[in-house]
Amino acid sequence: MVVTLPAGVRVLAVADGCRAAALDFVNRVSKRADSAMLEDWLQGAYAALVIRMTPNRTIREGATSLFPPALNEQLGKTREEILREFELARDPDNGAAFGYSAQVGGLLHPCRDDEGAEGWVPVALPRMGLVDRVRSLVAADYMLRPADYEKALFTCARCGLLSFDALRAPGRTCVAHDSDPHSMSSSPPPSRRALAG
Ligand SMILES: [Zn+2]
Repeated sequence: MVVTLPAGVRVLAVADGCRAAALDFVNRVSKRADSAMLEDWLQGAYAALVIRMTPNRTIREGATSLFPPALNEQLGKTREEILREFELARDPDNGAAFGYSAQVGGLLHPCRDDEGAEGWVPVALPRMGLVDRVRSLVAADYMLRPADYEKALFTCARCGLLSFDALRAPGRTCVAHDSDPHSMSSSPPPSRRALAG
């Protein structure tokens, strides 16, 4: 069974959305114990991307019901786990295993757009843990574009933000810290030691 995307929605746009939402989670949402921010993310970017396999359930899936007592700890653990999976996906063999396990775990569903392109949509299930929700986004993007994970994904050495940028990946400096990647070889970046310390 293949899900047909709504008219005009491209497979690539779904993967772009999954990637952006997953990066937003690790780079911003998971860094603060802010239940309103998490709720916004779940009800906004996340909810717009997923298909719900059991739409008639009335279980509240909001942030407050996910983990009332220790939001900070829970978010930190989720972030660590997702960062580990991003790291795994950079290796082609581990990445393939990651994609496959997401698929057999029911986190993904094959889809097709009205131009005939085939891809993946993340699946939302009632009472699904936060890790699986973010994992499903990463996996949907990974399955369509595994090479990006191998060649373009990196963590900025200066600010720690995770991003995709094949040009900047070798230098490991994000767009905010390296406005001109071509100047890297001719002029060294300003003292990293000063910034790191
Ligand atoms: Zn940076």
